[in-house]
Amino acid sequence: MLPLRKNIAEMAGYVPGFQPQEEGWIKLNTNENPYPPSPMVAEAIVAEMGNGGENLRKYPDAGSKEARQIAAELYRVDPEWVIMANGSDELLNNLIRAFAGEGEEVAYIHPSYSYYATLAEIQGARIRTFGLTEDFKIADFPERYEGKLFFLTSPNAPLGFVFDNSYIEKLAQRCSGILVVDEAYADFADDSAMRLVQKYENVVVTRTFSKSYSLAGMRLGLAIARPEVIQALDKIRDHYHLDRLALVAASAALKDQEYLRLNVGRVRNVRDCFSNDLRTFGYQVIPSHANYVFAVPTDRDGKRVYEALFKRKILVRYFSDPLLQHGLRISIGTREEMQKTLAALREIG
Ligand SMILES: *Cc1c(COP(=O)(O)O)cnc(C)c1O
Repeated sequence: MLPLRKNIAEMAGYVPGFQPQEEGWIKLNTNENPYPPSPMVAEAIVAEMGNGGENLRKYPDAGSKEARQIAAELYRVDPEWVIMANGSDELLNNLIRAFAGEGEEVAYIHPSYSYYATLAEIQGARIRTFGLTEDFKIADFPERYEGKLFFLTSPNAPLGFVFDNSYIEKLAQRCSGILVVDEAYADFADDSAMRLVQKYENVVVTRTFSKSYSLAGMRLGLAIARPEVIQALDKIRDHYHLDRLALVAASAALKDQEYLRLNVGRVRNVRDCFSNDLRTFGYQVIPSHANYVFAVPTDRDGKRVYEALFKRKILVRYFSDPLLQHGLRISIGTREEMQKTLAALREIG
């Protein structure tokens, strides 16, 4: 018998979305951006490699200084309030490691991002979930929540609605522990909880470069939080968690805000058109503030439609969870991809 820790032996492990390696799929299942990243990113990566990759023999800047500086300017905070990460998943992991000891409680909303549960299991923390009301508020949230961390995904994945700031502010006041606002999709929304970080000492905001910046393949994220939190996260991360190429990619992407606006604008336009078109033939679509929609066919059988799309090499996300099985999460692709998807859905009925 391997001397594994009990919680590791007992846990199932996270299953990431399907990533087909062959061509020919319309891939709308993991919320990647259909457009390429800013051209400055590739330029910066090529420059950073140096002649024949000679720069790669040297370790990167362990403190991500340049990228933190640029992010700090963008979000109008001091650099001590910023940390960069190897995907925002790394931040979620390190927040749990920093704040929730074995047997202590971590909470999140169900449905939202189930990876929080996997990370909590690894740590041996206890997990609590809160449901949603019909009007997308949290059901039965206590007047005072005593758990160590509460993960609030806003915009919500997979449903796409957003919690407004006044509501998040009340939650911050009711949490004894840390309120982590996972804003993986906030660039596609109109508002953000970023300003609450300076007002409430227990609020942390995490962002990813995987969706709005079209950089899922680079593995980049960041968090904004007060310096005491950032220092704790800095203590426990791998010292060289970001490689040289990721670091220059982050800086270049953050600097090119004009491209981000254009990129996000395109996705939002396609999203809103696609949502309206779906509604015209009977689908229910939750108004989305992200780069995907949660859509419900008239017979409320998500699996049937998922399988029919799969046969046509269109990949979307179906969840067997009883709360979600009546619909599908469809990532927003290019205009052409969404037109093909729409045509297929019309045919499938
Ligand atoms: C995609 C996603 C993440 C992970 O982002 P990475 O930066 O790719 O690790 C975190 N939270 C939510 C809600 C996401 O959808």
